[in-house]
Amino acid sequence: MTDAQGEKSAKKRQRGATSLPKRRANTWRNWSGGVTETAQLTAGPTSETAVRSLVIGAGGSGLRVKSVGAGHSFNDVAATEGLRLHFDDYRGLVSVNPETNVATFRAGTRMHEVQELLREHGLTLENQGDVVAPTIAGAISTGTHGTGLGYSGLSAMVKSLRMVLADGQVVLCDERTHSDIFEHARLGLGALGVILEVGIQCVPSFRVLVDESTGPVDDVLDTFADRARAADYFAFYWFPHSEQALVRSHRRLAEGEEPEGLTSRNAVKLMDEELVQYWTRGLAKSLGEIAPGMVSRLSQFTASLTGPRHYVEDSHGMFGAQRRIRFHALEYGVPFEDGPEVVREIRRRLEERRLRVSFPIEVRTAAADDVPLSPAYGRDTTYIAVHRYVREAHEEFFETVEEVLRAAGGRPHWGMLHTLRAEELREAYPRFDEFVELRDRLDPQRVFGNPYLERSLGE
Ligand SMILES: Cc1cc2nc3c(=O)[nH]c(=O)nc-3n(C[C@H](O)[C@H](O)[C@H](O)COP(=O)(O)OP(=O)(O)OC[C@H]3O[C@@H](n4cnc5c(N)ncnc54)[C@H](O)[C@@H]3O)c2cc1C
Repeated sequence: MTDAQGEKSAKKRQRGATSLPKRRANTWRNWSGGVTETAQLTAGPTSETAVRSLVIGAGGSGLRVKSVGAGHSFNDVAATEGLRLHFDDYRGLVSVNPETNVATFRAGTRMHEVQELLREHGLTLENQGDVVAPTIAGAISTGTHGTGLGYSGLSAMVKSLRMVLADGQVVLCDERTHSDIFEHARLGLGALGVILEVGIQCVPSFRVLVDESTGPVDDVLDTFADRARAADYFAFYWFPHSEQALVRSHRRLAEGEEPEGLTSRNAVKLMDEELVQYWTRGLAKSLGEIAPGMVSRLSQFTASLTGPRHYVEDSHGMFGAQRRIRFHALEYGVPFEDGPEVVREIRRRLEERRLRVSFPIEVRTAAADDVPLSPAYGRDTTYIAVHRYVREAHEEFFETVEEVLRAAGGRPHWGMLHTLRAEELREAYPRFDEFVELRDRLDPQRVFGNPYLERSLGE
């Protein structure tokens, strides 16, 4: 590793570390600060044997157990008042199969570490979420996804799982062995067992050409399906109160391909999304508090800031941004082709209710997958996410948007805020009952239960 690379990965490590939720004694809070809880006990096991004894011991004394990752879920899916298991000391690469490109990681490995470790093997993840601090076990457990109509979220990329079940049994499951557990535990909400290791499908490293521009949101919505199909990775951000959207599309480059007409590196840095998304959000935050009317003018100003940019990015660095401003988030997946109409309906409702929104609305895509609790199960999907600065009340805004998303047959992201309970989730997810039956069989005593699971899966 060169000095520059060393410095870069040290910075990345630091970035991951500073993104961790604060842990004081047994008090824990998630990244957004919206969830705070005090567990009776906390443990950071460093071996499979330790995890087994903790699960068996807790089960025997009626203490509920919850595995926690990096606390980046916006809701209480990872909360417990019983025994909290964290995996800060159980991370790293276990193995890489050079024939299949399947790499196996310990549960607590952060997503930025996953990419750094894969780089050494000439491998990368084909897709991932836009934040790199989460752990691999936490990220798959709530169905973390990125964008790209040809690509699935992380859970569908999982090839094997090593887990400790509620009775202390250790299982290695994949498509052939314990296939029922494997199928569901790829997105298991922490309800089916403690994940020790995740085997995930990787691909050779690649580079992408990134194109960014702003344009009228109506044009973007009219051409959404074609643009999403034409690009490898496609996303857009609509700035409410303005007619503008920021569009970002990535095309994977062939080996040796050197595109021309790139924006200078300095310009890329200067106009970085840091500027657009965070600096501006910071302004929106403070201005919004002082003078609500400023938010819409600010949104228009922001959207006009970004000129077209074209630059090449490495697959290890193309996903993931720093998040300086804390926010709450709600996200649903709707059928892919309905995406533009749903965004239009959200716009109509926001105008009707005169809601002031200081964060862009994020629209991404995903390929249909076969993971039972995935929002993209069995259908190509448009993901629509809304955000709210933590110090602003989010309830009315989220409720308005959620109403539209539900009416459109949307399925909520399990790690974001949503108000659905088991009976509504059963309607949204066609294989919901299968998941619940498996949970009942594997964990009849609800050793891995918590209030989120009681609401979402039933008691
Ligand atoms: C700034 C920000 C940006 C985000 N961007 C995206 C995005 O682009 N796309 C997206 O889809 N999501 C996104 N999310 C949501 C987030 O990535 C997911 O909710 C993810 O689960 C967080 O992983 P984590 O390690 O923090 O897990 P946690 O939130 O700590 O836990 C999530 C779940 O995983 C379970 N779990 C953790 N470890 C284990 C284990 N070892 N065994 C069994 N279960 C376990 C927990 O019990 C819980 O049920 C974002 C969140 C934030 C804060």
